[in-house]
Amino acid sequence: RGGRPVLDPARLAFLTAQEEQRFLADRPRSRALLERARAHMPGGVPMGWMTAMHGHAPIFAAEGDGAWFTDIDGHRYLDMNQADLSMNVGFGPPAVVAAVADRMRRGSQFMLPTEDAVWCAEALAERWDLPYWQFTLSASGANAEIIRLARHASGRDKILMFDGKYHGHIEDSLVIMADGKVKPELHGLTPDHAAHARMVPFNDLNAVERALKPRDVALCIVEPALTNVGVVLPDEGFHAGLRELTGHYGTFLALDETHTQIASPGGLKQLWQLEADAVGLGKTIGGGVPIGAYGLSEVLAQPLKTPPSMPGAPMESVGGVATGGTLYGNALSLAACRAALSQVLTPQGFARTAALGTQLADGLAGLFAAASLDWQVHRLTSRSGFTFADHLPRNAAEARALAQPALYRLLRLWMANREVWESVATAGPTVSFAMAEAEVAFYLERMRDFLADIL
Ligand code: PMP
Repeated sequence: RGGRPVLDPARLAFLTAQEEQRFLADRPRSRALLERARAHMPGGVPMGWMTAMHGHAPIFAAEGDGAWFTDIDGHRYLDMNQADLSMNVGFGPPAVVAAVADRMRRGSQFMLPTEDAVWCAEALAERWDLPYWQFTLSASGANAEIIRLARHASGRDKILMFDGKYHGHIEDSLVIMADGKVKPELHGLTPDHAAHARMVPFNDLNAVERALKPRDVALCIVEPALTNVGVVLPDEGFHAGLRELTGHYGTFLALDETHTQIASPGGLKQLWQLEADAVGLGKTIGGGVPIGAYGLSEVLAQPLKTPPSMPGAPMESVGGVATGGTLYGNALSLAACRAALSQVLTPQGFARTAALGTQLADGLAGLFAAASLDWQVHRLTSRSGFTFADHLPRNAAEARALAQPALYRLLRLWMANREVWESVATAGPTVSFAMAEAEVAFYLERMRDFLADIL
């Protein structure tokens, strides 16, 4: 293309080295604490994956307030990814802080239901148009139980997923496609689970039909838009086709809206009028307190309503189906969830973040045009992002081919040195409930300066 700017790999490498040096030099306290931490935590972190998140050593967080947080060296950051959207409500929303403090004082866990649970189930049923709700501590926990309930209700054992998915740290979905076969994604997983999994490309209804045809698939689980390989939007008609095919072949359909719940009070299900037998949620509906939730159709919920008498059976086998978690459905999670749903994640709040998402998308598109870059912007209400190419990907393979990990690594590092944080590579920016126009403008200014620096 005439006039299209060329990104010089040597300049990108030079800038990356320079930014890395600056990042380390400016964070002596984090470096010292990391050294101390290594004695009793592998890699110096409470969860190993924290070392793999960034191309640099992890830093230690100090505190957060609204859209911003600080590290122990006193640097502040505008959080454009909010801990993989688990803090999309913002840090310390006052309503949630008050509800949690109150619940903590009055007892946080009883292994008994509280009225907040009823309120939350009612609110979620209305928002997500599914009659029954259960609560876990994470989205992983929610998806694990949806899978079990679907297997039980269908009498089948296979699970259909889409390449590029992430549904949590559960055996059934920690699988990948490699050389045309489904395999365990990582070490420590057995091939048995992969043997029960089928995986097809997103937006490929022919492949879906081939996978469902043997009529042995219990559940198809899908994010309405893929959000863990950048963002991949569905083709027009993809979800309608998926619903029709799953219905035709007797397979339950679950929407994993752990990330896409930020799109509207009832996620993309509500926004796009999607039908499903189950929905899995987690992350930000807890207002910053761990929670997961899943919504169920009448059929899937049935076994949980009618526990058969099974003398001697463990308590977590209600209805004969394995469900779990001493702390699942605890009073604290549900008090936090109620406060978040009623006072932060409100219809007005979603309208506001969606408008800010448009400001973000328009701003990005304007910056790329001004820089003569053909990078394409996608819009998903508050989650607006971009692809380093003149077209958006239609599936995970395309998204991987268009990704530029070295460039994105430089972008995150460069931004981190200038008060903008993105915890997940390739996720792209998302507006949080704590942001206003000024924060979006702040991010866009930084992006403008970044482009000027690399071009
Ligand atoms: N589903 C989706 C779509 C996710 O992106 C994630 C986490 N990134 C999960 C489920 C699992 O969430 P958690 O790790 O909080 O259990």
